[in-house]
Amino acid sequence: MLYQGVLRKMQTEYGSPIQYFLVFENDFIHMNQLLDKEIQLDFIKYQCLNCGRERPIYRQGFCKSCFYDSPAAGDWIMKPELSTAHLGKADRDLDYEKKAQLQPHIVYLANSSNVKVGVTRKSQVPTRWIDQGAHEAIEIVEVPNRYLAGITEVALKSYVSDKTSWQKMLKNDIEDVDLVEWRGKLKPHVPDEVMDYFIDTNAETHLEFPVLQYPEKVKSLNLAKTPSYKGVLKGIKGQYLIFEDQTVFNIRGNEGNYVGIGLS
Ligand SMILES: [Zn+2]
Repeated sequence: MLYQGVLRKMQTEYGSPIQYFLVFENDFIHMNQLLDKEIQLDFIKYQCLNCGRERPIYRQGFCKSCFYDSPAAGDWIMKPELSTAHLGKADRDLDYEKKAQLQPHIVYLANSSNVKVGVTRKSQVPTRWIDQGAHEAIEIVEVPNRYLAGITEVALKSYVSDKTSWQKMLKNDIEDVDLVEWRGKLKPHVPDEVMDYFIDTNAETHLEFPVLQYPEKVKSLNLAKTPSYKGVLKGIKGQYLIFEDQTVFNIRGNEGNYVGIGLS
């Protein structure tokens, strides 16, 4: 059987374990059903997620000109504290930015290899945590716009990491920590203007990924260097496929690559 299409991050469904779906224009693949099966992955061409043209992918699935022009790739996405829609000020396209930024956002703690602070739109909970491969997470504040979430994250970064190790996450080299306790420790460092939005009671969310076998070391599949790969799928965590030979493939990192997926 052969599927083909442009890679976008997998859609997910919270459950025990989490369910993953790869969505192509004409195909819908339930990835959990491919566990323990040999699959073949072939690079076919590039296809920018924004303009659809066959151009080399620069970042986030976009060709270079779309990355620098599209409102969907503004700096405020990676740096929420740069958001300005709440001031009525445009970065690239105010209408787009108002829709994206002026909606409830969550600042959270997630643990995928260590505790980290992060920001997401409320509608993306728990999707964002699944995409990061976090095995546990907790919300800290719920604010009405992205800017307030961003300045909270910046304030908390002095006391907790905002980075994780994807290698440790994939090897399941993790520790369980008490996120409720972490929340309490960070509370005094939440900016004054956000304190009213502190979430008083909530519990850790635990996430269970469909992994039969974790790799001991990881080697990342790079389609530019290895345009054709075959391996037995042993797990899915975050946005990574994990294969029996310790190869891992980051679906999100390969957005905009048009591929063929074959099943033996
Ligand atoms: Zn483009």
